[in-house]
Amino acid sequence: MGLTVLMNAGPWLPVPPPGYGGIENIVATLVPELRRLGVRVVLASTADATLPVDELLSVFPDGQFGALQRPYNQVCGISHAHLNAVVRAVRERDDVDLVHDHVEAVGLAVLTAMGPGSGPALHTLHWDLGKHPDLYGYLDGGDRVRVNGVSAAQLARAPQALREHAVGHVHLATPLAVDADHRPPVEKSDHLVVLGRITPGKGQHVGARLAHQAGFDLVLAGPVGPYRRPEELAAAGPEAGQNPDVRYWREQVAPLVDGDRVRWVGMVAGTARDDLVAAARASLFPLCWEEPGGTAVIESLALGTPVLAIGRGCLPELIEHGRTGLLADDEDGLADLVREVAGLDERDCRQEAGRRFTPAMMAERYVELYEQVRRSAVPG
Ligand code: UDP
Repeated sequence: MGLTVLMNAGPWLPVPPPGYGGIENIVATLVPELRRLGVRVVLASTADATLPVDELLSVFPDGQFGALQRPYNQVCGISHAHLNAVVRAVRERDDVDLVHDHVEAVGLAVLTAMGPGSGPALHTLHWDLGKHPDLYGYLDGGDRVRVNGVSAAQLARAPQALREHAVGHVHLATPLAVDADHRPPVEKSDHLVVLGRITPGKGQHVGARLAHQAGFDLVLAGPVGPYRRPEELAAAGPEAGQNPDVRYWREQVAPLVDGDRVRWVGMVAGTARDDLVAAARASLFPLCWEEPGGTAVIESLALGTPVLAIGRGCLPELIEHGRTGLLADDEDGLADLVREVAGLDERDCRQEAGRRFTPAMMAERYVELYEQVRRSAVPG
């Protein structure tokens, strides 16, 4: 195909990430399939990124995720150093046909500011923008910079100025979806699991409350801010509470975690993550925000575990109510559905994942979008 894409995954975590990492996981899923389709990929990440690519561009030796705790100007310094390297690469070399950027807000701002000489760019939105109508409002990349969402619901909530530059949405994908319906079924235990960053939007406090009220066992898996293990967080001093997710954990979740009915196992990775989700009766998403893309949702389907969720954001696009999961309007509705979830068939979940969320499907759609963006960047 002869297309070279500079894929900007940012400086925060390597690709693939060591466990949690929404954006970096998606880049790790997308790139091998793009290369299989003949796309050359120059990856902008950190030097410890191990994903096979045609070329790696990096400023930092390793992921700077821990630095997100630091004062704002230091965070900006890291962001700018990384983006400068991307900008320099695009300006100085003539083999990059398109930048595919995944870095929230700042990335798109930089691509826009680079001006018309710097070639086409596609920015994938990964965040819910409904609460940030001004975030992208001032941008004008002309026809050169386009954006795509990761769900129709996410795009519909994006600011008008951004939607004017949108080329549609592409659902996320997971390698677990490949041949999902051919893997042997896993014996289920009775617990439910919430997999994800521990943060107010993901609603772990709602899940824990529900587990106590409705009487089911719940495992919470995921990091709290930069803390991956319960011991690490227990050893952190009061100043760690400056991080909003640590504050959320301490004030709203930890009081409900009794180590029996509700347990927190910290961040899980690799097969430990897959085994935990596959063995669960259901994955619970007690959402308090409009979930934009839901990687953990489609991973759960691929692992044969139905989804029990508050149907916010992309959930109704990913889950067929009554077949691959159960969606409620609110916390009370969720409590009513807990018992029904045992009636769903795990084969339906696996089949749905294999039919809709494979890496190949996502990559083919992105290649179409790359062509569309390149065509509209050069009129005529
Ligand atoms: N994840 C993981 N270990 C954890 C928590 C999360 O590997 O302990 C992974 C999860 O499997 C998914 C990604 O991190 O691939 C989170 O992506 P998602 O879109 O669900 O959440 P967000 O990007 O909003 O944090």
